[in-house]
Amino acid sequence: MQKILVTGGAGFIGNHLCRKLLQEGDKVICLDNFFTGKKKHIEDLIDNTNFELIEHDITEPIDIECNQIYNLACPASPPHYQYDSVKTMKTSVLGIINMLELAKKYQARILQASTSEVYGNPLSHPQQESYWGNVNPIGIRSCYDEGKRCAETLMMDYHRQYNVDIRIIRIFNTYGPNMDPQDGRVVSNCIMQALANQDITIYGDGTQTRSFCYVDDLINGIVKMMNNTQGFIGPVNLGNPSERTVLDLAQKIIEITGSNSKIKFCPLPSDDPVKRKPDITLAKKELCWEPKVDIIAGLRKTVEYFKAV
Ligand code: NAD
Ligand code: UDP
Repeated sequence: MQKILVTGGAGFIGNHLCRKLLQEGDKVICLDNFFTGKKKHIEDLIDNTNFELIEHDITEPIDIECNQIYNLACPASPPHYQYDSVKTMKTSVLGIINMLELAKKYQARILQASTSEVYGNPLSHPQQESYWGNVNPIGIRSCYDEGKRCAETLMMDYHRQYNVDIRIIRIFNTYGPNMDPQDGRVVSNCIMQALANQDITIYGDGTQTRSFCYVDDLINGIVKMMNNTQGFIGPVNLGNPSERTVLDLAQKIIEITGSNSKIKFCPLPSDDPVKRKPDITLAKKELCWEPKVDIIAGLRKTVEYFKAV
């Protein structure tokens, strides 16, 4: 039985990951400071003897003996990570140092949840892992983008300098049940607005693209990456290569919900990336992974969840 630490385990992706690891028979320690995570996401796991919850902030050191660390702790939605941008940077940088020290001490394998945001406003399309990105270092998204880039650097340096066993994944926009309906992201905003028959807010002209991955697909990829023993440490893109405009996404949500909502165009926030699409050749080759859930099926399940809450 593996003892696995999941930081950010009460968050959207983290709670799905905790569930998957428990199903596989592992002992899971969920560590979270509940900034964006919710106790209700993991409430049903509390009685499981293989599950432990620790309220802690990863910017502070902690000593937990474990075999594997999934470092997911970090707010992911722009309004959340911009709320206290200095804290966001500390979470990425001090947080990963604390987790890497733990991995070094116990010879644990550590996986860092990085992001497509390391590509910034990409000049190369679709994005391959070899692309170094086009990130504004001083803009309103920089606390997140540069924090994640720095965390990747620290992962590689601990690997080269101390031989820490690392894995790096770059997650593209992910959606599904247990997303925070108030997180301000495009999927949650559009579904909430559609269900309430309110105007759907599109930032800019809606021609910017994103590639949306259903959470179950992502979780399979994350676990495969952690457990691959072929010497592949990444970084690897995990995302659904099916690219669509934000306007198209909104229209699909209107159809699925049968809503009377109209589109309302609003100002585009600065540094909003124009396009995003993962090249997943590497994930297919090294992990035999690719997403299976198409956008309509995934959105239907997400809409059902939003209706229920
Ligand atoms: P989320 O905000 O739902 O979850 C993040 C979790 O981390 C929350 O439970 C929060 O309380 C916790 N947390 C934040 N700061 C912390 C700190 N200092 N100490 C301890 N816990 C802390 O976000 P998510 O969508 O589940 O994202 C999880 C990870 O995946 C993040 O690292 C994010 O950057 C990455 N990611 C997510 C997406 C996406 O589309 N959701 C895309 C790219 C990368
Ligand atoms: N967006 C939008 N309306 C909203 C929220 C977001 O048009 O109500 C846009 C946003 O400007 C961006 C895209 O949708 O172009 C995805 O935004 P999100 O915050 O979900 O993710 P990210 O920008 O981090 O990829």
